[in-house]
Amino acid sequence: MSRKNWTGTCLCRKCSYQAIGEPEASLICHCRDCQRASGAAGLPVLVMRRSGFSAHGPLRSFTSTGGSGSPTVRNFCTDCGSLLFGLPDHAPEIVTIYAGTLDDPSRFKPTFAQFTCDRHALSGTGLALVEHAKRAQ
Ligand SMILES: [Zn+2]
Ligand SMILES: [Zn+2]
Repeated sequence: MSRKNWTGTCLCRKCSYQAIGEPEASLICHCRDCQRASGAAGLPVLVMRRSGFSAHGPLRSFTSTGGSGSPTVRNFCTDCGSLLFGLPDHAPEIVTIYAGTLDDPSRFKPTFAQFTCDRHALSGTGLALVEHAKRAQ
């Protein structure tokens, strides 16, 4: 077994998860629900099989109707509020891990974006922004 598991934690480190196997997909979702849930312009999503997924810690879930028109359960840490993963009703075999919580986010290689109809200027796409390697002064 040369493949590493995918692991991640919340901001306060009380919640953690692991997923076994290869990603089913890697994408950026720009839908309004993901924007509101995360506060970001787009949510990086690692799609994994639910059968190899487990999570531990003080998790709480919130269910809303997703872009598919069916309920999506988003799971977050009750202590720090980090959004960790989603469990879409319309696809019970998968889990959508929010890739910003990965222990090694450099492994995340998105291949497509979805709901670009809702993408807005906050996404930074195509903007000629001044970049700072660390905190801007
Ligand atoms: Zn936490
Ligand atoms: Zn979304």
